[in-house]
Amino acid sequence: VIEIENLKKTFGDNPVLRGIDLSVNESEVVVIMGPSGSGKSTLLRCITFLEEPNEGIIKIGDYKVDASKKNDRHRKKDIREMRKRTGFVFQNFNLFPHKTAIGNVMEGPLTIHGAKKEDARQLAEALLIKVGLGDRTNHYPAQLSGGQQQRVAIARSLSLSPTVMLYDEPTSALDPELVREVLQVIKALAEEGMTMVVVTHEMNFAKEVADRVIFMDGGVIVEQGTSKQIFENPQEERTKKFLRQVE
Ligand code: ATP
Ligand code: MG
Repeated sequence: VIEIENLKKTFGDNPVLRGIDLSVNESEVVVIMGPSGSGKSTLLRCITFLEEPNEGIIKIGDYKVDASKKNDRHRKKDIREMRKRTGFVFQNFNLFPHKTAIGNVMEGPLTIHGAKKEDARQLAEALLIKVGLGDRTNHYPAQLSGGQQQRVAIARSLSLSPTVMLYDEPTSALDPELVREVLQVIKALAEEGMTMVVVTHEMNFAKEVADRVIFMDGGVIVEQGTSKQIFENPQEERTKKFLRQVE
């Protein structure tokens, strides 16, 4: 579903991604961990061209962009098509504050897919029920808890039927008691076969849900394997050090 080759990103003279190769298969759940500043968010942002990579090839589904070919005439269209197929959930929810929960979820189908209002409403309602918010459809973000807002954000991403979901620390802004309800929703989607890449430090989530855990540091993938391999038998010193700190 995703294939990334030799992805590089430099901010000024700070090389943040130093050549990342990553492929994610259909229905695979990949968890990315790594210290602050290791480039995890930049990686997700480059995959969706929210950040312009300096170099590398990014493939999502049938679309492919070579980052160094800035003048390719299909580039804009390919990036747009890739974005349509990618759901992105951020740390800070990013809901429209002046729209209700259902309004937030309807927005994408209405504006991007050109859906009819009634169809968008039905879909949004079904998705809000799916994330456990069937009784909160007409609440505004300010009237919802952080965990509820994040579940609206997940429903909103799902409304465009993405082929892959990217989560950037979806629970790190939440009070501890709200983390579980959000991870539970993500886990249920994983069990339905949704392909996803999740940046998170929640080890229990990684143990229960990840098919593969990737440890990043200094803009490279230091090591990867099953959660068992990475947590119980890490090979690299940097991984061991990191795990000692988060445990
Ligand atoms: P965290 O766990 O804190 O979220 P991260 O692994 O997601 O960290 P990134 O946010 O990808 O790390 O940042 C990696 C590096 O890139 C950092 O040194 C950061 O300062 C730098 N960086 C990120 N975004 C920008 C930007 N827009 N302009 C300049 N430097 C940036
Ligand atoms: Mg980050």
